[in-house]
Amino acid sequence: MTNKDAHIVIVGGGFGGLFTALDLAGTGRVTLISDADHFLFTPMLYEYLSGEVEEWHIAPKYKELLEEDVNLIHDTVSEIDLDARLVKFENGAESLSYDVLIVAVGGVTNYAGVPGAAENSIPFRKIANADQLRQRMVDALDHVPPDLPPQDVQRALTFGVVGAGASGVELSTKMADLLLDAFKRRALHGEPRVLVVEMGDRVVPGMGEEIREYVEDALRQSHVEVHTLTRVVSVHPNGFTIEHNGRQTEIEAAAVVWTGGVRVSPVVEKLGLDKNERGLILVEPTLQTRRHRNVFALGDIAFYPDATPTLAGTAQLALQQAGLAAGNVKAFLSGDELKTKHFEELGEAVSLGTERAAVLAGGKTFGGPLARQARFALYTSRLPTWHHRLRVGASWFFGGTAPRPLLPLGIQR
Ligand SMILES: Cc1cc2nc3c(=O)[nH]c(=O)nc-3n(C[C@H](O)[C@H](O)[C@H](O)COP(=O)(O)OP(=O)(O)OC[C@H]3O[C@@H](n4cnc5c(N)ncnc54)[C@H](O)[C@@H]3O)c2cc1C
Repeated sequence: MTNKDAHIVIVGGGFGGLFTALDLAGTGRVTLISDADHFLFTPMLYEYLSGEVEEWHIAPKYKELLEEDVNLIHDTVSEIDLDARLVKFENGAESLSYDVLIVAVGGVTNYAGVPGAAENSIPFRKIANADQLRQRMVDALDHVPPDLPPQDVQRALTFGVVGAGASGVELSTKMADLLLDAFKRRALHGEPRVLVVEMGDRVVPGMGEEIREYVEDALRQSHVEVHTLTRVVSVHPNGFTIEHNGRQTEIEAAAVVWTGGVRVSPVVEKLGLDKNERGLILVEPTLQTRRHRNVFALGDIAFYPDATPTLAGTAQLALQQAGLAAGNVKAFLSGDELKTKHFEELGEAVSLGTERAAVLAGGKTFGGPLARQARFALYTSRLPTWHHRLRVGASWFFGGTAPRPLLPLGIQR
């Protein structure tokens, strides 16, 4: 088999899979399989919710990103037969054979077995989730008459966010700012109520003290109610029940959003590969799986031995691994020595409401409106392809990045 004949199949078109495909284009026959027709720049899904960015900015279609030398299959993989070297599809389409496989299917929301959570809460991982949540916020606002007393308004406009990791705090501050703005525009009495519920004793547990101070300050400024050492015990169609110090409280809510955890994709759960206790595929420092040298795994589904621990489960890690994966697939096919690499933190940037952010770069943390601008600049540079970066950068520079208010149905702009 020569480089030119080899069929390289990449399953998953997120940070790991898409960036590997872009690097591998022109090497052998490359096929990218994804269950979506677009890439998603997840770190800005919060800005999509608030209308600070548009769908095409953060969710470009693969066909606009990939050259013709990458074959694209828009389908859901149900199973991978590692011995027969076959990828199988959910809809029964003919299985696809590979010489080299790259598994980059990422994670799914982990409801941790909480009763009613999967059925009644909204996950926050996809464009459709953000659309559903925004719609739920507009619907709830539209049902509140302007003369309703403040306590009734607050009951009708209560929203719960489960988990106070980076995702939970970015989302809750964004929702709270949007709702506060809508209250002013619609001249409603009182205030909305946004609660973030966290099992641990602090918000953003994986982050340093300095950035946490900015986060806590933003939660206060956005009037988000923080409940630490509190568990969500069930979610119902009209709210959820939380438990603190053994005492349970039922809370009525217009929506409960689940950002409480991630587990590996079901495709990975079925794979007969060596894994750790969290179900992550154990990979060598070359990103090869242990028992199948022609199979590579990266991103959220892989446990990589040589990375700063805080990088686990981040786009930063998947993005950096993509370069290593592409280089090593080329080396594997040409019989060269495969490389290993140590991955470091590239800096953190959290969006805090619609006005502010906090950025940790070069060992220094800064916050406020300037950090918000810096975050936009940083993320422009991490978007896929030069062409897309230029188009989006120009759109943000000339068109601005102001949020889109939660206007009544019928006058949405
Ligand atoms: C809302 C949100 C915000 C985030 N913010 C940040 C941040 O600020 N910074 C940061 O570093 N990380 C952030 N993350 C984490 C980051 O998104 C992930 O770590 C990263 O996307 C992992 O890359 P991946 O390639 O492993 O998986 P993903 O990017 O999730 O890609 C998986 C791909 O596989 C496809 N797929 C899944 N199953 C199948 C199947 N069966 N068949 C075919 N295709 C399939 C999916 O559609 C997707 O295209 C955020 C995550 C979320 C959800």
